[in-house]
Amino acid sequence: MRILGIETTCDETAASVVSSGFDGRGEILSNEVLSQIAEHARYGGVVPEIAARAHVEVTDRLIARALKNANCTVKELDGIAVAAGPGLIGGVLVGLTTAKAISLVTRKPLMAVNHLEAHALTARLTDGIGFPYLLLLVSGGHTQLVAVRGVGDYVRIGTTIDDAIGEAFDKVAKLLGLPYPGGPHVEIEAQKGNPERFNLPRPLMGRPEPNFSLSGLKTALRLEAEKIAPLTQSDVADLCASFQAAVVDMVIDRTRVGLRAFREIAGDPKAIVVAGGVAANQAMREALQRMAVETGLRMVAPPLALCGDNGAMIAWAGLERLRLGLVDDISAPARARWPLDSTRDEAGAKA
Ligand code: ATP
Ligand code: MG
Ligand code: FE
Repeated sequence: MRILGIETTCDETAASVVSSGFDGRGEILSNEVLSQIAEHARYGGVVPEIAARAHVEVTDRLIARALKNANCTVKELDGIAVAAGPGLIGGVLVGLTTAKAISLVTRKPLMAVNHLEAHALTARLTDGIGFPYLLLLVSGGHTQLVAVRGVGDYVRIGTTIDDAIGEAFDKVAKLLGLPYPGGPHVEIEAQKGNPERFNLPRPLMGRPEPNFSLSGLKTALRLEAEKIAPLTQSDVADLCASFQAAVVDMVIDRTRVGLRAFREIAGDPKAIVVAGGVAANQAMREALQRMAVETGLRMVAPPLALCGDNGAMIAWAGLERLRLGLVDDISAPARARWPLDSTRDEAGAKA
């Protein structure tokens, strides 16, 4: 089975062809990603209008390249998957309209995939992980603990009550004068700094509900920075290191609590899975790995190229859905908001 995946929900235009591989995994035949970082950098964030226009300009070309590199023609595809949300609506419409057009012309099934579901299922593409597993979804727009019980069966265990972790990384970077997008730059600075210099709060740590909070931490960091301004390079490194350490401590504590909640509703997890752009963070990966070893569980983190937005995860989610007969028609809407746990009922209703 070969599926084309198209991703245009934010600031990456991506197209990929994935086939069903062995041991329940997928095989990535091509994976083209074009980041718009340069276009948005001078505004310090993603500008929706610019993003949508940039997607229009490159989506066709990227799809052609993904097919060519996969050595595959449109006719040889078994289906077309596209991220239909959540995301910036202008961009989502570009990908969705393109996918619908290809599906109509070729009469191949269309899968309108939830972008978060695609992040959630990436561990199955790369490692063939069985259900159920505990998902820590940490990205630019989301921070959630989710019980993944099956394709289309997601139960949210915890979430952030204010900012997403990726968003907090980006805001901290901006505050410290680091380039956009901030996550990777904060990590690089953190590697050079002293994580113990600033005693930043770990919000919600020790609380019985597995939720997250970032805004108090971010404010505490801003106050520390203001106290010692003007900042030297080593101040910036120490602030980043202290921030990252606080985030990692909080994530580990919250995930531990989430694990308990998981067991109550889904039994023993096959693995702890981390996904989304922030899953690229090495300190977080290592801390989760240590915690998993301690609890006797397997930890799965996607390779760095599959942490951020990509077409392969969309293609794979489409492949999983097609295998279950979960296809969409031409009326599939583009959605700015689309909570992951809401895909549950719809999949259930169709199954
Ligand atoms: P969502 O998936 O919630 O819709 P998104 O698609 O914009 O949001 P992703 O592309 O999955 O988010 O992730 C981007 C986020 O990941 C950005 O906030 C970025 O700063 C963050 N990020 C990327 N690399 C790192 C890193 N090494 N450390 C921390 N954060 C990182
Ligand atoms: Mg992005
Ligand atoms: Fe994403």
